[in-house]
Amino acid sequence: MVKNKTALTFYGGVNEIGGNKILLQDGDTKVFLDFGMSFALKKQFYSPPFLSPKTEKSLQELGILPRIEGIYKFDPKPPDMDAVFISHAHMDHSAYLSFVKREIPVYCGETSKIILQALSEIRRADLEFDVEDLQFQPFRTGKKIRVGSLEIEPVHVDHSVPGAYGFIIHTSNGAVVYTGDFRVHGAKPEMTREFAEKAKKAEPVAIVTEATNMTGASVSSETDVESRLSQIVKQTSGIVLADFAHTDVDRLNSFYRIAKKHGRCLAVSLRQAFLLEALRSDKGFKVPDLNDETMLIFRKSKKTRDKWEKQIMECYGDKVKDAFDVSKQQCKLVLAMSFYDLEELVEIQPEAGSCYVLSASEPFNEEMEIDFERLMNWLGHYGLPQYHAHVSGHIMPLQLKAVLKDIGASQIFPVHTENTELFGKFLRDLKGKIIITQKEKEYRI
Ligand SMILES: [Zn+2]
Ligand SMILES: [Zn+2]
Repeated sequence: MVKNKTALTFYGGVNEIGGNKILLQDGDTKVFLDFGMSFALKKQFYSPPFLSPKTEKSLQELGILPRIEGIYKFDPKPPDMDAVFISHAHMDHSAYLSFVKREIPVYCGETSKIILQALSEIRRADLEFDVEDLQFQPFRTGKKIRVGSLEIEPVHVDHSVPGAYGFIIHTSNGAVVYTGDFRVHGAKPEMTREFAEKAKKAEPVAIVTEATNMTGASVSSETDVESRLSQIVKQTSGIVLADFAHTDVDRLNSFYRIAKKHGRCLAVSLRQAFLLEALRSDKGFKVPDLNDETMLIFRKSKKTRDKWEKQIMECYGDKVKDAFDVSKQQCKLVLAMSFYDLEELVEIQPEAGSCYVLSASEPFNEEMEIDFERLMNWLGHYGLPQYHAHVSGHIMPLQLKAVLKDIGASQIFPVHTENTELFGKFLRDLKGKIIITQKEKEYRI
């Protein structure tokens, strides 16, 4: 019997943070591991909202959406892809599902499905984020999924969004491991440990690993960030304005506990409230109950409301506060506030002794870009000192090296990093061969 050919081709995530789109072929079986949007490539040509891509043709023309046959919904050819596996719900791993043919099944964690569907309700229809009619096939950790000649085992990992997975994929030529985005300094390091153990047991021939943090690394943890945030809230006499990613449930839980501890309420945005409602249907993990006495919901001033906003406002009545209400009880609040909510400060008028905490990555995270110059102008105008209390969603270099050494794959493919060469040198004493990944080149396994 002729043995299947197994190969990896990287259509995104090469020399960039995010945009992962990794094709795994095993004989006639083809699956994609993640199908994310590349922020880096997009930024080279576009500046939303006024200069935004209008069609998939523009995205392909500029190399932002790779040219692959038989996968896109705008391609009349029959589907030539067996499945797409999504590691987690961050846009740089999932957004370009928008373009995928609706008959191709999309495997992702139950939680990722909930988050993607909730986000699609919150956002207005968008060329680059549309998950309507996708054939989601949700999985839980440890489940084994057969697709053609492949057997794929998703295993949970810890990351800055709930429901993140790595994959152990049994091919005709041995196991291929994909880490997705992961870390061991988060709220649930045991999940990542379990993934690493299972990956090691599979004796992989190849591992595709994230390597985001090769520069600017730090020694910290989610617990450490919580205690630093707690110190800040304790010492603040006015309002605490907190900017953190609305899908970062671990950070939200930290702010919730801290607010409670210091006799304040945590006011989340309508968006975050909607997302929390959706996530409560997932019994897999704990999120704060919006009915809890510590929780409030902040509504921005807006002329018209979307359906989902009205739904939250009706459901939570008195718990929904506007900028005027907030201005009257500043010392009693931690207010979740993003860059796009700064205009609300005009009504809130933060008192002396208030402060602003940036609890997201700097200057970029997987959901937003922070415009520092303008942020500083706003904070300067209202006399708000800025604290930065954050820990990355990505594993640190020394820990990554230890994990990779332990897993012991024969070939190591770094993705999701701007420092591939540095990574290669840093890990050159490992037994496995480091492959300096190139875009759209086929690598035989
Ligand atoms: Zn990512
Ligand atoms: Zn991520």
